[in-house]
Amino acid sequence: MNNIQRTAHVTIGYTEYTVSEGTVAKLLEIVEGGRACNMCHQLFNNSDRYAVTLNACKACVMGTHQVADYIGGFDDTRHEFIDDKGDILTCDARYKGLPERDMIRTLNHYGFIVPTDNRHQHNYYIYSGDKTRDKWLLVKYSDQHGGGWDSGKGAFVPLEVYYLCNKDGSYTELNKRRGDWQKLMREARDLIPDDGSRWIQRTREDKAIELLNQRADDYTVADFQ
Ligand SMILES: [Zn+2]
Repeated sequence: MNNIQRTAHVTIGYTEYTVSEGTVAKLLEIVEGGRACNMCHQLFNNSDRYAVTLNACKACVMGTHQVADYIGGFDDTRHEFIDDKGDILTCDARYKGLPERDMIRTLNHYGFIVPTDNRHQHNYYIYSGDKTRDKWLLVKYSDQHGGGWDSGKGAFVPLEVYYLCNKDGSYTELNKRRGDWQKLMREARDLIPDDGSRWIQRTREDKAIELLNQRADDYTVADFQ
């Protein structure tokens, strides 16, 4: 009679063993019951000492990383922190690695919804405006590799999209040809003469958002669609 099993490899110490899958399940149960933090070497528990990143507890991660406060868990295994600039950092209990800045969750934290699609990388967003104070932010998504060949220009054009986001959660892809936006940019150009800086466009967009926030309630996202 054969006794062929589905098998898997486990390594304990320096020895790799081939065992049945049932054995793996039993081992995992034992391991889960005895996991500890590799920094403070104390057993995890469900109340105050639990893993926020693989093999490290919340207190140890916060002690070694520039995070001001713990916000909480989400998506079952992920955890978020806030730093002293008000940015959100996240890490995952299933993976190694200290908390990293997450632009989308940062904006979400202040009420702004950022349109995402699965072509978008989480941290390719920059924004103009003050996320903690302003009603409007101009969020720019750009990806050097996400664009396409423009046969008219005969060049590769990076993916670049602008969104106007309101703190109430509404947003729109900015249509730069719309009169309302052009008017704000015209005012910004009058206030900030071209000094030849390569950042002049960004500086003027910052100013246009400042002007928009001064008249925050006069506009809705529909004005920029
Ligand atoms: Zn610890």
